[in-house]
Amino acid sequence: MTIKNYINGAYCMPSSQDWLDVINPSVGEIYGKLPNSNREDVQLAYEAAKKAFPEWSKTSVEKRSAILAKIADLIEDNLEVLAKAESMDNGKPLSLAKAVDIPRAATNFRFFSQAITQFYSESHEQIAAKSINFTLRQPIGVVGCISPWNLPLYLFTWKIAPALAAGNCVLAKPSEVTPYTAFLLAELCSKAGLPKGVLNIVNGLGSSTGQAIVEHPNIKAISFTGGTKTGAHIARTAAPLFKKLSLELGGKNPNIIFADCDYDKMLTTTVKSAFANQGQICLCGSRIFVEASMYEQFKTDFVKKVKQLKVGLPSKKDSDLGALVSEDHLEKVLSYVEKAKQEKMNILCGGEKLTTENGKNGYYMQPTIIEVSSNDCILNQEEIFGPIVTLMAFENDKEALALANTTSYGLSATVWTNNLKRSLHFSEHLETGIVWVNTWMQRDLRTPFGGQKNSGVGREGGFEVLRFFTEAKNICINYE
Ligand code: NDP
Repeated sequence: MTIKNYINGAYCMPSSQDWLDVINPSVGEIYGKLPNSNREDVQLAYEAAKKAFPEWSKTSVEKRSAILAKIADLIEDNLEVLAKAESMDNGKPLSLAKAVDIPRAATNFRFFSQAITQFYSESHEQIAAKSINFTLRQPIGVVGCISPWNLPLYLFTWKIAPALAAGNCVLAKPSEVTPYTAFLLAELCSKAGLPKGVLNIVNGLGSSTGQAIVEHPNIKAISFTGGTKTGAHIARTAAPLFKKLSLELGGKNPNIIFADCDYDKMLTTTVKSAFANQGQICLCGSRIFVEASMYEQFKTDFVKKVKQLKVGLPSKKDSDLGALVSEDHLEKVLSYVEKAKQEKMNILCGGEKLTTENGKNGYYMQPTIIEVSSNDCILNQEEIFGPIVTLMAFENDKEALALANTTSYGLSATVWTNNLKRSLHFSEHLETGIVWVNTWMQRDLRTPFGGQKNSGVGREGGFEVLRFFTEAKNICINYE
């Protein structure tokens, strides 16, 4: 299996002649190779995108919209193939890829195919001065989109769909760990009639290929989703080049549970928000804070439910959790269990690597709950990005809010309560870009998406991202 770059509407070999292995994490075996592209490959992709830009940017919104909608249809037609590829590449349960990841990739294209037809800009009249101002929203040119491995096609398309809808040409790099579905998508884009050069996919390591995209002087905007450390590095690189940046970074999201909540709904959703996709979602509720009066009850019920979760081969229908994405990542996640043991924390369940019945050499791990006595501990302050959550009791609203906000991250938070006043108070004071009340990961693509503090800069979703992918130009006409 050879994954290739996609430049100027065709699959091609890298001029670097350098290749990397791609591994199926559910069995720990190499299933293919992918290019480790160099600056020359990035430049070739850039040239193709630059050449395609004048025509694509002037293509009518209706036509652009129709092509994007066609891509959505083709993703849906190829659901099985794409879901299998995603599950093999990432280790996630096939059922999850089928029900969530791939349908969402289609939705991303369909949503932005429609959103662009409704996109508008402002106008202001200055009556006394007899002038009118209006703002043009023009495509930027060639933009860079860099996405992570946890929701590969879901996040790849979350970036490229609005970028293309807004009339830009794109140079995109999927994570080197999970390149397969982006590779398959390229062919579907060609089939849908996306003109050559409008989308270019260059594979390779973040530190070389990704870096070359960020350093390219004529790629004027970068949309990046990934780790906070990488985001800071990208910001430092891009700043002297005055690039527009959208950074969607890590999270350490609080899940705050009050005794007055709808208990059964909360319990079921909390299991999901803790361990969906093996806990490898930036929005996972990894710090669980529970009101003291119901702490023991919750602890018993939560541990019982989590112990029932099945970890197994992603292809098995009854697997709730699949494999972690790579051996390195598994080792990193397990190192937090070691830290918990060193600190004599109470491991309520899990904590072990699983290697036997679940695919001999795959990267599996038990879902793990650790009781902590202080929010200052490393487990509550560092993003683990795996199947580990912590549990801690709180006495009152003030303490819960302080605990939730005491972190360098600020992506999302969940609050469980039926008290309206309390839910509004928390919504106002939580230092996050997203607050869910009595739900988790319920998404409406029209809404702004992103984080505060070290969780990112800027917002994606809806018109926010269309604004990001366009330059605003104000025009003032005096009609005196
Ligand atoms: P990384 O930051 O390691 O990588 C993200 C992407 O950036 C990959 O394509 C990577 O390439 C690339 N990259 C790495 N270094 C550079 C560089 N110097 N210049 C340009 N590109 C580079 O993140 P992960 O892939 O490990 O993803 C997990 C992280 O993503 C977690 O922290 C998670 O919280 C965050 N995330 C945030 C979301 C949000 O919306 N806020 C959503 C999902 C995840 P390669 O893989 O080839 O090294």
